[in-house]
Amino acid sequence: MAYQSVNPYTGKLIQTYPSTTDQEVEVALKNADEFYQLAKTQPIEKRAEKLQLIADTFRENLDDYARLITTNMGMLFTEAQAEVKKTIEFAEYYAQNAAKLLEDIPYNDVPGVRAHVKYQSIGAILLVEPWNFPYTQIMRVFAPNFMVGNPVLLKDPSIIPDCSDAFATVTQKAGIPTGAFKNLLINYDQVNTIIADPRVQGVALTGSEGAGKKIAAEAGANLKKSTMELGGTDVFIVTEDADLDQAIKVGAKARLTNAGQVCTSAKRFIINSKVYDQFLDGLIAEFAKRKIGDPQDPKTTLAPLSSKSAQEKLQKQVDMAIAGGAELLWGDNTPFEGPGASFHPLILSGMQPDNPMYDQELFGPVAQVYKVDSDEEAIELANASQHGLGGTVFAGDLDRAEKLASQIETGQVAINQMLTSHASLPFGGVKLSGYGRELSDLGIREFVNAKTIIDG
Ligand code: NAP
Repeated sequence: MAYQSVNPYTGKLIQTYPSTTDQEVEVALKNADEFYQLAKTQPIEKRAEKLQLIADTFRENLDDYARLITTNMGMLFTEAQAEVKKTIEFAEYYAQNAAKLLEDIPYNDVPGVRAHVKYQSIGAILLVEPWNFPYTQIMRVFAPNFMVGNPVLLKDPSIIPDCSDAFATVTQKAGIPTGAFKNLLINYDQVNTIIADPRVQGVALTGSEGAGKKIAAEAGANLKKSTMELGGTDVFIVTEDADLDQAIKVGAKARLTNAGQVCTSAKRFIINSKVYDQFLDGLIAEFAKRKIGDPQDPKTTLAPLSSKSAQEKLQKQVDMAIAGGAELLWGDNTPFEGPGASFHPLILSGMQPDNPMYDQELFGPVAQVYKVDSDEEAIELANASQHGLGGTVFAGDLDRAEKLASQIETGQVAINQMLTSHASLPFGGVKLSGYGRELSDLGIREFVNAKTIIDG
């Protein structure tokens, strides 16, 4: 498996990296174990200082780090700048709050017994991460585990090696111990070897359902704790009393940001029949405004997909959806010409349960629209999915919005706003979208020993 950066807009190879050898993996595991032992004796404030330095380095060279995202996976430069800012936010949140989040918790409900729970490190954690947010995906798991004292070994996607290399360089510049973080350019067999190693106590994967099933099985076979952050088919529900202008603007953004390659992108628009035509006209107008082009150019408003293979996969899925009975409501579904990985935005309707693409994640600028007559119908459709990641509700009546939000079977729902992650809010899924939570207090307690001490 070659780790290569290829510019998805030009199709040009940037550079190829040598793979990590088995011997280098062994050294990384040894160093990781050394950090695990060292961190047990270190005050947490020391790691907070280092994490702050990591955040500062990202801030000082924000545009340079953003540019690497754009050249490796095609994100619009402005969105890439926001991605670096989010990376800083996640690092600073844990630098400032980890000590408090890991404080002992008293448990004094047993008559005559005094006890408390301590949160302690457990050993090395393997991170297997996706390409769609090259730095935040690493930071959201690295930062809490670094603060806990768990060493982190990273297996990043083979298509964004400039970004994972940059992340590793930032951690080195901050002077964290060698074993605290290591970027490994490894194959799937080496991933399995690492999961089986006794020095490794957990694996956190963010990626597709297929990868999730394989890694979760490996973790299970070795009785290692795992968290799975997988894909989604998120709904965007609009009721007839919603602020339509706002719903249309946010809806288009929620589908087209990062060229539609966000796990919580709005993928299924479920619109009340009373406002369906109006909403659809607005969505089409917003989609039509998007300008495909060079993601470095500020005039470009729709980025290319991350790679040629992502483009080919999505084209195949769209072709299958249409062959399976879906209607192309708007857009040009002919394959995009040229060396790059751009993709025309599309709007599909008429997806029925017998369509082979029904409930499949379309990872790109392709919206599906559904017309419903009631909130009950909207919820039935929303939950007729094996996925359970996120969702959005636009409604005028906030009680109604809250009721709809609480009925959607997903890990998070946004009301009358774009769904995004925040450092202090739990993030994760249910059903085939995975298990476990990242960010917030819940994220930092995923890979810890919650040790009960009875002392009185
Ligand atoms: P992917 O193909 O599953 O890859 C994710 C990571 O897993 C990559 O590092 C990949 O390495 C590795 N991998 C894949 N199969 C593996 C195996 N059998 N053994 C070991 N490692 C394996 O997913 P992606 O295309 O990068 O990312 C897109 C997916 O991630 C979408 O489904 C999206 O919804 C999901 N996602 C979810 C969240 C969330 O928080 N829930 C956030 C972002 C993205 P290689 O590149 O070397 O194959």
